[in-house]
Amino acid sequence: MDRYFAPSEGRIFACFPGAEDRPGQRRMAELVHNAVVDGTARFQKWRDGGGEPEARPEAVIQAVEAGTGTGKSLGYLIPALAAGRHPILVATRTKQLQRQLLEEDVPRAAGILGRPIKAVLAKGRANYLCRTAWEAVSTDAHLEFSRADQQLWLALQRWTRETQDGDREGLGRFGEGESPLWDKINARAERCTGRQCPRYEDCFLTKLRAEVAEADLIIVNHALLLADRVLRESAFGQVLPDAPVLILDEAHDLEEQLTESCAEAWSSRAMNLLFTDLRDAAKGQGAGLAALLEPWERAWADILAWVPLEGGVLPLLSPGPEMKALADAVGAWVEAGHPLWMEARRLGSADPENPLWMRLAERVGTAFSRMEQIFAQPEGWVSTLNREGPSLVHFKSNPVDVRPFFHQHVRRGFESVILTSATLRDGRGFNGLGLRLGFTRPEVEVAEHVESPFDFEAQGLLFVPPGLPERRAGGGGVGDPAWIEASLSAMERMLRASRGRALLLFTSRKMLAAFRPRLEDALPELTFFVQGDGLSRTQLLDRFRATPSAVLLGLASFWQGVDLPGEALSLVVVSALPFAPPDDPVLQARIREADAQRDGLGFIGIQVPQMTLKLKQGIGRLIRTRTDRGVVAVLDPRLMLPSEDRLGKRYAAQVRAALPPFPVTRDWDRVEAFLHQL
Ligand code: SF4
Repeated sequence: MDRYFAPSEGRIFACFPGAEDRPGQRRMAELVHNAVVDGTARFQKWRDGGGEPEARPEAVIQAVEAGTGTGKSLGYLIPALAAGRHPILVATRTKQLQRQLLEEDVPRAAGILGRPIKAVLAKGRANYLCRTAWEAVSTDAHLEFSRADQQLWLALQRWTRETQDGDREGLGRFGEGESPLWDKINARAERCTGRQCPRYEDCFLTKLRAEVAEADLIIVNHALLLADRVLRESAFGQVLPDAPVLILDEAHDLEEQLTESCAEAWSSRAMNLLFTDLRDAAKGQGAGLAALLEPWERAWADILAWVPLEGGVLPLLSPGPEMKALADAVGAWVEAGHPLWMEARRLGSADPENPLWMRLAERVGTAFSRMEQIFAQPEGWVSTLNREGPSLVHFKSNPVDVRPFFHQHVRRGFESVILTSATLRDGRGFNGLGLRLGFTRPEVEVAEHVESPFDFEAQGLLFVPPGLPERRAGGGGVGDPAWIEASLSAMERMLRASRGRALLLFTSRKMLAAFRPRLEDALPELTFFVQGDGLSRTQLLDRFRATPSAVLLGLASFWQGVDLPGEALSLVVVSALPFAPPDDPVLQARIREADAQRDGLGFIGIQVPQMTLKLKQGIGRLIRTRTDRGVVAVLDPRLMLPSEDRLGKRYAAQVRAALPPFPVTRDWDRVEAFLHQL
């Protein structure tokens, strides 16, 4: 990799005069290069030996934690592309990173490699227009749609004629959010007839498949990657081609993504889509089908009537008459839908040239099997229901252990897999990541942290204000009054010293709502921006950057991916250690399993590492460049050791070991002096 990264002689310095030497980036490039070369050699040996499917090797796995400022995108793009393997698949968690890769890093990588790179961004199928569905909808004289969809309908008239890629994003604001009209015309897999479709040749997905087949680099999000791997098993609807190299960027919550992507799930939304498609298909089939559909719709309404009205995730199989009645209602719904299923199969068999009814019959069967599996809750799965809105209910069964899915969809699907993020290690190194995803001992041992070029000891301070009380229960779930008052006064004092320029991270909506008006009243000279006030994330960040003395109050999604370099951000305040809410049934099951192995392991082996990674992400918002300076304040004495604070905790040593090495202080004078000079 010296050819590209060697100080002063590497191509990176020839292409970008003034570029800084980044030893962490160099090391990362070496690790990625070795993993790609080893994976290629391992598979070549297998192919040379006959390529027997049962002897197929597993991917080489390399985890690299690359601290902020390492330049990790080029640290993996250059070695992966230079190895000449084709295509490279890069999966990210956020759209921001996808945009950054396409607009900034890929052109830079092309300059450094001295050749063009064909990069394609692929999204989930539901983001693209289905030409066949649009033709049916646009010529439907009886089409009805909601007022909210009227603007979309008008925008579609022109856009459908002009779009080159069929990507909904091209509709701008008209293409955002949930829309029953878009649901009718998108290219979702369950309605697509594939090669039998008359528009197959000029279908946007056919075009996308051709583009990705030619691409050097395919950029996707984690959800699409995993959905595609799952679809691949049913040999239907897959968009992504085989790729030798997978790079999982932002891999810190891969366990979470696998938990969601590998769930058995059904929802009122999925059911309504199926009802709509069945009703559309039944038009022209006489009254018989409508008569079969109607009792099935009623039986579904009966299920929803038993779902408790209060929102939130509830374990499905908790004892109680309502859950028993719900399970009975599901049984009655399966029974009520059976004649419809039989009829759809009969129509499908009667007209083998037209896959429509056979596909609908398959979808009815899928609805039955999903709901039956969710309610059966097999060993190792946790079933939940979640009423998200008056008419939106999710039923889900999530795997407690995602290791088999990592094995099946990641390890066995590629030759080399790179996992990277600024936050992969908790206080026990890579053991936690390895345990959660099922790494082998050698895979944990070769995982490596590459240093950030930042000088944390000089650039910042980690401040835990002295004398803060314990945050006991109370204050309507916010914390007890003594903790609220002490935290508010600490925030006010810090915000005065920093003159705003601060990001305040809260662990709950209630907490943010309780603190916000008090801060606004106390500090009228500052401008407050609040997540959830109607502005998009990008708008909020843009306004924050453009406003002097601004303060940004954020919730869970602002703990990561917020990039505010420069003086606009000089203070990050973490309101409390971000332990996950203990009422999540999947988390509870994981904790129970760990505790069964060793008492207390659930807390120290799962909850503390999870919290540490989130804290590390929040703290990582402060220093984004070599010239950034500032203070991170954590308003929680549990970050101190028992010897340092009477409310301190022994696990604080483990947590602090994983954080950037800021000097830790409890001295108000030092913090105020530091902030004043910024
Ligand atoms: S191939 Fe599938 S997605 Fe494409 S136009 Fe036809 S039905 Fe729609």
